[in-house]
Amino acid sequence: HAKVDRRGSYRFFSRQLNARSRERLSLETDLRRAIERDELALFYQPKVDLKTNRMVGAEALLRWRHPQHGIVGPASFIPLAEDTGLIMPLGTWVLNTACRQLQIWQAAGRKLPRVSINVSSHQFRQRGLVQGIRDALAGAQLDARHLCVEITESAIMDNAQENISTLDEIKSGGVALSVDDFGTGYSSLSYLKRFPIDEMKIDRSLIANVDGDKDNAAIVTAIIAMAHSLHLRVVAEGVERTPELAFLRHLGCDECQGYLYSRPLSARDFAALLLVDQLPLLEPASAAGA
Ligand code: C2E
Ligand code: MG
Ligand code: MG
Ligand code: MG
Repeated sequence: HAKVDRRGSYRFFSRQLNARSRERLSLETDLRRAIERDELALFYQPKVDLKTNRMVGAEALLRWRHPQHGIVGPASFIPLAEDTGLIMPLGTWVLNTACRQLQIWQAAGRKLPRVSINVSSHQFRQRGLVQGIRDALAGAQLDARHLCVEITESAIMDNAQENISTLDEIKSGGVALSVDDFGTGYSSLSYLKRFPIDEMKIDRSLIANVDGDKDNAAIVTAIIAMAHSLHLRVVAEGVERTPELAFLRHLGCDECQGYLYSRPLSARDFAALLLVDQLPLLEPASAAGA
């Protein structure tokens, strides 16, 4: 009996594996075509200054309008793009699209000082990144000071010594640098001091219930104090509730981003938001919905 079961379960397992690798292969083929078929889109989420309540930037977040699966988030395809090398053309597309979009908004008189894009660890290690940034800015006729590049804490700390020169190159072109998902990796404070960074984004996991969770409150308080002593701007990501916002404001956090202000929006919906002077807070119910 045991033998039959083992074979049976092995067959089941290998069939499952085949289904999964087939699914992966078809996803890869689809992703390869996604750019030329114009299925990729950037959504934009506001970054709000807590002193003025004004939108001071937007983070561009990648979406894939898949013909069968609908709107697919980056978590479902960025890892695949990294494994297959597709992250390079994808990253170039993101850079070009974000720069061109901001230039279009600014030319139309919309007040948006800055757009942030995400760069993954593989992308960051590629030689072409710095040139790609220059090309995107030149192509869009956008000044470098309007662009910010977000790199996760874990990507930046992995091979920190070598990363300094890439960061210096990006920074010397006038582009701002942000450390994303801060508080989830293992930062060496001596490197943090040497990196030419402008901004620190505190990870969503630490912001959740920061007003009530004593541990999160202690960590966030320490991060803000440290960032400010290094003359860095601090952004809280994933702010969903008014008490979190109040607490972060009390701690002197500089900027907030989260569903409390807005979900990431299509370029078209975001353009409407740019007409609003000060963003109203969304009620918890609507912030948690959809
Ligand atoms: P991230 O850079 O940390 O982006 C913030 C993520 O948090 C986004 O998820 C955003 O939709 C989500 N978020 C914002 N506010 C809230 C909130 O109040 N509550 C909750 N629950 N979530 C919130 P998204 O768009 O799914 O992106 C996930 C990750 O994918 C990003 O994390 C980033 O690391 C990566 N990513 C996104 N776009 C790109 C891209 O163009 N290139 C690369 N290489 N990676 C990207
Ligand atoms: Mg980010
Ligand atoms: Mg983040
Ligand atoms: Mg995050």
